[in-house]
Amino acid sequence: AVAQEKGTLSIHTENIFPIIKKFLYSDHEIFLRELVSNAVDATQKVKQLSSYGEFNGELGDLKVTVKLDKEAKTITVSDRGIGMTAEEIKKYINQIAFSGATEFVEKYKDKEGGKENIIGHFGLGFYSAYMVASNVEIVTRSYKEDAEAVRWECDGSTEFEIGPAEREHRGTDIILHIAADSEEFLNEHRLSEILEKYGKFLPVEIEFEDKVINNPNPIWTKNPADLTDEDYLAFYKELYPYSEDPLFWIHLNVDYPFNLTGVLYFPKLKNDFQMQREKIKLYSRQVFITDEVKDIVPDFLQLLHGVIDSPDIPLNVSRSYLQADSNVKKINGYITRKVADKLSEIFKNDREGFEKKFDDIGLFVKYGVISDDKFYDKAKDFCLLKNTEGKYFTFDEYRESVKDNQTDKNDTQIWLYTNDPEKQDAFVDTAKKRSYDVLVMDTVIDPHFIGVLEQKLEKVNIKRVDADPVDKLIEKDVALESVLSDEQKEKAKTLYEGLIGSKMATVQVEAMPTDELPVVITFPEFMRRMTDMQATSGQ
Ligand code: ADP
Ligand code: MG
Repeated sequence: AVAQEKGTLSIHTENIFPIIKKFLYSDHEIFLRELVSNAVDATQKVKQLSSYGEFNGELGDLKVTVKLDKEAKTITVSDRGIGMTAEEIKKYINQIAFSGATEFVEKYKDKEGGKENIIGHFGLGFYSAYMVASNVEIVTRSYKEDAEAVRWECDGSTEFEIGPAEREHRGTDIILHIAADSEEFLNEHRLSEILEKYGKFLPVEIEFEDKVINNPNPIWTKNPADLTDEDYLAFYKELYPYSEDPLFWIHLNVDYPFNLTGVLYFPKLKNDFQMQREKIKLYSRQVFITDEVKDIVPDFLQLLHGVIDSPDIPLNVSRSYLQADSNVKKINGYITRKVADKLSEIFKNDREGFEKKFDDIGLFVKYGVISDDKFYDKAKDFCLLKNTEGKYFTFDEYRESVKDNQTDKNDTQIWLYTNDPEKQDAFVDTAKKRSYDVLVMDTVIDPHFIGVLEQKLEKVNIKRVDADPVDKLIEKDVALESVLSDEQKEKAKTLYEGLIGSKMATVQVEAMPTDELPVVITFPEFMRRMTDMQATSGQ
């Protein structure tokens, strides 16, 4: 018989190590993000200990520096943070997946800044160094009084060496001896590109080749009350140097039930749908994570630009998990709500300004209306319809405005639109003469938008101006005096039908006001709409 037993799983380091090295991160360049954020963490810790009175020495110059030595084939990341004693190296470095960051946060979580300022979490970042290095040295000296400098070295096998070292100041040097297959990183352009990408907004100054590469106080970390429009515009330029100024922005700031800060900008979209996508950058505690925010930000919001920073988005997990994550869902809902509230606020406070911007943001608003019910619920009060005279209406205003002339016997309103005012001007004119108001629906997503309106708005039927003979849309009492006999009409009808040769077309010969042709040719709405949808379904 098998005896009942309990035990602890064990891991063979020599087997797990290659896995960490190869598969921990898909992108090898991440090593620099990890080592620099460790240096930043060490620096934040010493600042915090100093503010708690647990460290009383000089803080000194707290810059983190990155150095490249092409001849020696090394990259060195140095900080003047808390450093490590030999004991601490054994605890934090030799124990893979033991996070000193988490331990620090646990200890100081109730103190000012104790939780917010630390990046590390999983206790694996340091080992990403072995994705590019054949050998790593640590030379470090703890902030603790009488601490001696220590040197640790490991060549990526499971054996390490530790011993005394020379180091004058408190802090740590991480020296990477770059492996033969990773020499692409021994290049100052490559390094500066990686540093820019991940470290542009790290909270401690990072120096590379005698230049500070980052802005440690990006605006999303500041209080909106302390910021001017110029600050927001300048930051936009910092993010997208070649873009036109944005129209307006939203400063995001929540701490419950999840942490999230950021600034989202509304770019001038016009009819340009594809170009502007995927510009939102995702950060976690000021460390750049990705600009693929597909799973975190609803599709229509991806038309916005800017930065989202959240320590609560689980980053080291698979994409499918991310979609199902309840925090991510909440973040989605929150951002959607904030964006809708901002638009609603501008609409209420400055209707004229809102109308002026609507040509630029209409595409975005309509996309939201189409794709997100919660957004629709708010947007139905500020989403605008424009008529051929350039006048704007909300849905309710429009319904009210056309009710006298465009409501049929069944109490259903017929709304007419043109998607090409120039080409369809004859139809638009005819409709107007019959007292119809005509909307302009000429953006790429309007075919879908119209579909949603018909679905959501009760008793509204939407047709393109050339869809059906205007006179047949609504039975009216007005009888125009006919200038053509029935026989003449019949003849003309047969003649035109023969000329067009399409069974789908309707030819109507009708007495028209004297300045018009007496013939109208129309195509059924459903047929045309199908063609339109096919044309835009690639969007
Ligand atoms: P994490 O940062 O997630 O805790 P890492 O593997 O990146 O995990 O680092 C492990 C631990 O090693 C850190 O938590 C920290 O205690 C220690 N450490 C790493 N780099 C430094 C450094 N530059 N200065 C001081 N301690 C460091
Ligand atoms: Mg780390």
